[in-house]
Parts: sequence; structure tokens; C-alpha cells
Amino acid sequence: MAAKKDYYEILGVSRNATPDEIKKAYRRLARKYHPDLNPNNKEAEEKFKEISEAYQVLSDPEKRKLYDQFGHAAFTGAGAGRREGGFEGFSGFGMNIDDILEDLFNFSDFFGGGRRRTHREKRRTYTAERGDDIYQTVTISLEDAYRGTTLTIDVPRYVICERCAGTGQKPGSQPTVCPECGGAGQITYSSGFMHITQTCPRCQGTGYIQQPCDVCNGRGLVMKTETVKVRIPPGVDNGTKLRVPGKGHSGRFGGPPGDLWIIVNVQPHWLYERKGDNLYVKVNVNVAEAINGTELEIPTIDGKTEKIKIPEGTQSGQHIRIHGKGMPRLKSSGYGDLVVVVNVEIPSRKQLSRKARKIVDELEKELPKPSTRFEKP
Ligand SMILES: [Zn+2]
Ligand SMILES: [Zn+2]
Repeated sequence: MAAKKDYYEILGVSRNATPDEIKKAYRRLARKYHPDLNPNNKEAEEKFKEISEAYQVLSDPEKRKLYDQFGHAAFTGAGAGRREGGFEGFSGFGMNIDDILEDLFNFSDFFGGGRRRTHREKRRTYTAERGDDIYQTVTISLEDAYRGTTLTIDVPRYVICERCAGTGQKPGSQPTVCPECGGAGQITYSSGFMHITQTCPRCQGTGYIQQPCDVCNGRGLVMKTETVKVRIPPGVDNGTKLRVPGKGHSGRFGGPPGDLWIIVNVQPHWLYERKGDNLYVKVNVNVAEAINGTELEIPTIDGKTEKIKIPEGTQSGQHIRIHGKGMPRLKSSGYGDLVVVVNVEIPSRKQLSRKARKIVDELEKELPKPSTRFEKP
């Protein structure tokens, strides 16, 4: 093995660095070289072990004093403990990466929420845990969003393992005493002048090892697809989230279940455009209808029709509002509007009959010229 590098050099701090400076240097390097952030990078992994080891010593005033006095010899050589290699690797500390980082970082901002749960599962296998939430997207028609509907959906979720009743233990098996710590739950390492007592990494301090259930592999939960009925209320829109309490994954070790979240996706409609609670429909009229005004039956989202008056002299692009014929308001009572957007279709001369052409020629002479030719749009 090559000569060990100086711990101060590894952390890039001076020999009289303050504990705070050492902690900061370690944080900075740990964030850079953490194996989870550098997957399959052997070099980063080695580097991370190195800086963790250096930090273990320099962050502890006792150990730092010994190191300053005796160098690496303080921790290696005769009586280096039950595990080979003294400080080689993390197991030598009875600590793993998570333990080290837990001391230093707020996990949720470092790895995100999901990581935190995994971490906890690994450490405290025997405390009650709430089940995870499940997110499921459903796609419905605009008509269903208008009326509301009940959907029957298949949800794959973790449920309590029937074989082991959620304990994760093989039924009939007895937990065996942990061979690592002999049931003590702690391991004392003798390193040079020191004795370090740490939680046993094999049994996580419980003192015994369970035989895992062979249906759920010790997890206590199995995946099962369940049919869930979900009531979709009238007025939902794209992205509406609906919570079905307790229909997420089952909890572990007596913990409550998570929730099921339904995320609604509303399909585009062939006729209506939706903006919030209002619906828009385009209605084409011809030039004569726009000039004289007319009455039209407008189809509404409830499958009926609504008679409206196109007033005489209606311009292209003009809006006519039909109150209360839009979408139901999800968060209050009542309905939005149906907005009719009038479009005046102007035919080209060659689309007209000979007779119509003659009339248009007459009309051109008879119609008043626009009152103002130019206007700011
Ligand atoms: Zn089981
Ligand atoms: Zn143990």
C-alpha cells in the first residue's frame, strides 16, 4: 500500500484550521465526490473514502490530537481492532455513508425527498412508516368534465404481505442473534490507543437478525393491483389534482397508508375551446346575415341548444355571451359562459352565381363608403 496521504492535505486545510473550517472543507468535498452523485466513478469513490476518513479524525478533538502527535501510526498497527485494515473503508467505523452525511447535511435539500425515505428504511427498519403517495393520471372528455363522472381505475399499490402479516419475518422463524455484535447491538473497535463504540452495522443496533419472509423478501409489503372507484366532480380541468385518502401504498410496521392522487387530463374538444370556466365556439354567418341580423340555434355542452340573436350589423370577430352555459365552477357554485365568436364569411367573386354577382355590383354602388377609411387597429 502506498504511503498514506496527510489528512490536512486531503481536506485542503492548514494544520491549525478551526473545527468550522474543517467541517466546511469536508462538506464542500463530500458534495463533489459523493458516490451517489458520481455513479460508477471509482476515482470519486476512493476520493470520498479518503476525505471521509480524514474528516473522521480531524473533526474529533481527541483523535485530532493523537493524529497531530503520532500521525497515521496512531490508528494502525498492533491492536488495530477486530476488523482488518483499521480505517480502510467505512465498515471500519461502524458507519456508512448515510450516517456520515446525516450528521452534516439536511438530506431533503441534498438528495430530494425520495432519497430521505430510502435512507430511513435502511436505518430504522422497525419504526412505523407512512406509505408513499401514488400519482395516477386519468384522461376524460370535456363532456365528462362538465357533468362529472365516476371512474374505475386499476392502481398498482404496495399492500401488507399476507404471508408475514407485514412483519417481514419468515413465519415460524425465530430471529437469530447477530453474529457481528453477539447481540449487543454495538461494536467496540480498538484502534491504537483508542476504543470506539459504534452501532452494529449488521443488525443496525437491534442485536438480532431476522429471517426474511420469502414472499415479500422482508419488506413486509407486496405489490398488488387494486380497483379503485374515483368520483370526478364537475368542473375539473387539466392538471386538477384529486386526493383519495388512504389509497396510496400501505404503511410499514403499523404506519398509516399514503394517499392516491388523481391528476386529471381533459381531452381537447372537437368544437369548444375552454378558457377557465368559459367555453368558446366559432359561428360562421354570411354577409347578408351579418347585415340583416339573424337567429341561430347554438349547440351547448350539455347536449342541448340555445337560441341566440345575431343583431343586425354584427362585425366579424364580435363576441356574443350566453351566460351560464360554460363549465361548472369547481371551487364555487355556478357556471362560466359560452362565448359565441361570430365570423363573417366573405365569398370571392368567382364563388358567386351570375345573379349574385350582379347584386354585389349594384350593392357596391349603393352601399355607403366606410365612415372613416383609416383607423388605429
Ligand atoms: Zn412477507
Ligand atoms: Zn449486530
